[in-house]
Amino acid sequence: MAASTLDDDQLYRFARQLILSGFDEDHQIKLMETRVLLIGAGGLGAPVLQYLVAAGIGHISIVDDDVVDATNLNRQVIHPENHIDMAKVQSAEIAAKAMNQSVTITPHHAQFSEENCTALCQDIDLIIDASDNPATRLLANDTAHRLNIPLVFGGAVRLEGQVASFRSGIDQDANCYRCVFPETASHDLAPGCSEAGILGAITGIIGSIMALEAIKQALLPATPLGPGLNNKLMLFDGRYLSSQVITTEKRADCPCCGAS
Ligand SMILES: [Zn+2]
Repeated sequence: MAASTLDDDQLYRFARQLILSGFDEDHQIKLMETRVLLIGAGGLGAPVLQYLVAAGIGHISIVDDDVVDATNLNRQVIHPENHIDMAKVQSAEIAAKAMNQSVTITPHHAQFSEENCTALCQDIDLIIDASDNPATRLLANDTAHRLNIPLVFGGAVRLEGQVASFRSGIDQDANCYRCVFPETASHDLAPGCSEAGILGAITGIIGSIMALEAIKQALLPATPLGPGLNNKLMLFDGRYLSSQVITTEKRADCPCCGAS
């Protein structure tokens, strides 16, 4: 049963965000009651997890089938050297619990798949796609749409990254990942981090923006921290430190959320 008010320890712990303009105890309680599914405990998942746990998001399920490898350590900052060969979800749970014992972490050492996606999303309020492959991105999108769950998406490669939120299952006018990235062929051709490279500071930046976006999505319809990236795509280029937010359209012929 969720507490209706914060106790003294919680008021002290979250004091710096509780004094933010427009952000109050009810918003903090909403975060503590939010149940998130985090897909991927790698370069993006690491900062997402850190900042959601620190902000007091109460329940986080993590799904990832990988184990920690030495080549992960340049960016996957929740995994220390002595966790090499450990399942990433287990390593992530240890990192999260070290930060905040009050958060419930549910690790799933598995690939997010057609077989388990519905079960993994049971009682979930928000899906965060911090995966690194096109098939998982598309499945995360289609699952979020089908189950009427908001989705925060992020991607990073080389020194570039992007973030968006998709609410096509909730808001009639909202678009989905397939509306914004309709060319399925390009998904398979897009280079991954293992081919094109990635700098840890970039996944840190993009993952942190994903965490901010997740907190905004968790608080909707209240917007004490500003509106989310609904029908918008944020693009970041670390080489020139440039960023832009572009408006994206819903496609009538979208195979996921379109009318036809
Ligand atoms: Zn769509």
